[in-house]
Amino acid sequence: MKPAADDPRPILALVAHDEKKADLVAFCAAHRAALARYRLVATGTTGGRIAEALPELEITRLKSGPLGGDQQIGALIAEERVGGLVFFVDALTPHPHDVDVKALMRLAILYDIPFALNRASAELLLRG
Ligand code: PGA
Repeated sequence: MKPAADDPRPILALVAHDEKKADLVAFCAAHRAALARYRLVATGTTGGRIAEALPELEITRLKSGPLGGDQQIGALIAEERVGGLVFFVDALTPHPHDVDVKALMRLAILYDIPFALNRASAELLLRG
């Protein structure tokens, strides 16, 4: 990841559970212009899907969520490098890394990071 001095834009972290990845790709496609205000960081599979559909977006891919990607985003939040988090949560499916997801949300709350867990909230976040 580039050091902050190279790029003054805040980081926007993007994550989607499997059943929500297509929705997040569609959201990114609809908001290309607004996303250009941010440095984009995503968990591995989510970032791969976005990069495949929207190759013009520069996106840094971390590890896959279940392999530590959510925790990597949490670490960026703790380092106060994140300006927003968009996490399209699948509320109908159990996930083995649920504790990581909970930890990520806890840090977003603690550090007062704007975070959106569904599309309606994400639209508001990008507007703000
Ligand atoms: P993924 O991780 O983008 O690598 O699928 C997201 C998650 O489920 O936390």
